[in-house]
Amino acid sequence: MHDPNCIFCKIIEGKIPSRKLYEDDLIYAFHDINPQAPVHFLIIPKAHIATLYDADGSHEVILGRMLAKAGELARAAGAGDGFRTIINCGKVGRQEVYHLHMHVLGGDHPLPPMI
Ligand code: 5GP
Ligand code: ZN
Repeated sequence: MHDPNCIFCKIIEGKIPSRKLYEDDLIYAFHDINPQAPVHFLIIPKAHIATLYDADGSHEVILGRMLAKAGELARAAGAGDGFRTIINCGKVGRQEVYHLHMHVLGGDHPLPPMI
């Protein structure tokens, strides 16, 4: 389930510290270490899925949970009137960490066009 070489798997396992917002049986949410907006956190599956290309129908419940929790967590984190979600996929999609993650960006300042 966990990839020993994956930084986000290590965060889920507590081997690398993170500022956790939420976790349940399927997902883990934590503040981005290099925030691009006043509110910037990541929602990740606990299972090691490398990219959105690697997700399929067997992951529907996990993917649904990631989206279903975004609003509640954004509100609790102080996103205010709105927020954006971004999933980068692959090198062309500007993905840097190869454990699927959804960025949640919000707050009262202008947000960058992309991460
Ligand atoms: P990507 O470009 O892959 O979509 O975004 C990866 C994100 O993970 C970046 O926004 C980066 O700041 C964040 N990140 C990378 N390493 C760590 C880490 O060790 N801890 C935390 N909290 N965020 C990280
Ligand atoms: Zn991983």
